[in-house]
Amino acid sequence: MAPDGAGRPKETGLHIAAPRPDSWMQVTPKGLYCVPGDFYVDPARPVPRAVVTHGHSDHARPDHEAVLATSETLAVMRARMGAERAGRRQQALHPGDTLTRDGVAIRLAPAGHVLGSAQVVIEWRGSRVVVSGDYKRRRDPTCAGFEPVACDAFVTEATFALPVFRHPPAEREIQRLLESVRLFPDRAHLVGVYALGKCQRVIALLREAGWERPIYLHGAMLALCDLYERLGVRLGELRPVPAPEKRGGGGLLAGEIVLAPSGAEATPWVRRLAEPVVCAASGWMRVRQRAKAKGVELPLIVSDHADWDELLLTAAEVAAPEIWVTHGREDALIHALAQRGVRGRALHLIGRGEEDEEPEAGPSAVQPGAEPAEPPAAEQLAAEAAAQRQGGAGGPDAL
Ligand SMILES: [Zn+2]
Ligand SMILES: [Zn+2]
Repeated sequence: MAPDGAGRPKETGLHIAAPRPDSWMQVTPKGLYCVPGDFYVDPARPVPRAVVTHGHSDHARPDHEAVLATSETLAVMRARMGAERAGRRQQALHPGDTLTRDGVAIRLAPAGHVLGSAQVVIEWRGSRVVVSGDYKRRRDPTCAGFEPVACDAFVTEATFALPVFRHPPAEREIQRLLESVRLFPDRAHLVGVYALGKCQRVIALLREAGWERPIYLHGAMLALCDLYERLGVRLGELRPVPAPEKRGGGGLLAGEIVLAPSGAEATPWVRRLAEPVVCAASGWMRVRQRAKAKGVELPLIVSDHADWDELLLTAAEVAAPEIWVTHGREDALIHALAQRGVRGRALHLIGRGEEDEEPEAGPSAVQPGAEPAEPPAAEQLAAEAAAQRQGGAGGPDAL
């Protein structure tokens, strides 16, 4: 830690305007770059110095020279990409602590997205930019809740930035899953989840709802659940899905809940399960056609991203005169912000996707043939929004 002061304007008795945020935080092909601090936030390519908001693969990339992140995010990175690729030098910054270098102060604030996720609060010469990474405002028993930080420019995602996206309470979706388990005791329930964050949140919510039986995991889920446990998140008894006793055998785990990467239901692996009810826990399950196209019988709208209301609430709370949108449905959000007197700006950062949907979890987890990630067609969403406005069957309750 270096002493601050280099960047502070001198006291002259005159008001010295703080620099404009876009004069010192810039969009480059490698990602968002802090000029005076000479570092990137969530860079898309290897860089000398990276600050990483969280462990999802569209934010945490391998092979940086130096990585600054929460200790949990550093642990996630080591678990996912191996210690040797998770940054030649790793430095943990405890949320709330401030690191000052070259007159730039860096602090991490909880983002409520997954374990270890943090917003990066960057301050230079009286100008403050907050890079939120991915975030949500709902309670999540597996990670610290989002903390709004007032700033001059707030950098947000816009994955679910359409009025049609209003996530129902996750607890209610978990009740729907448990109801289905009661209704179909002869079938296994196979829930497609993202391996980092969603998997552990669904498990924790099941435990809170009173599900005490062992929860069965696809092999791709094991390492990160193990890491969460080691980092103090209690998940109860977890077991790997057993292999069938004889070749071609099946009929396993009737009445049980199994978590697997989305796409696993389309692989031979699934044949071992007793008549699986295919479920998926994702914000995209709000889009009925999407659930249908993926063969999801029981869509569960559980998202680790802010929905439309949360995006606007957050914009109001951070009170930033300008909001920069990294990726997603930026048009709708920027329009809504303009109506509220906030200047929106689309950054079009490359390499950001919706890990909610990405068939990840390691090369062996999902066989070829799993669908690639793709955002929902705008027309499809607009049609659903229209149906909702007309009080049609398109409302979330109909799912
Ligand atoms: Zn994420
Ligand atoms: Zn992301």
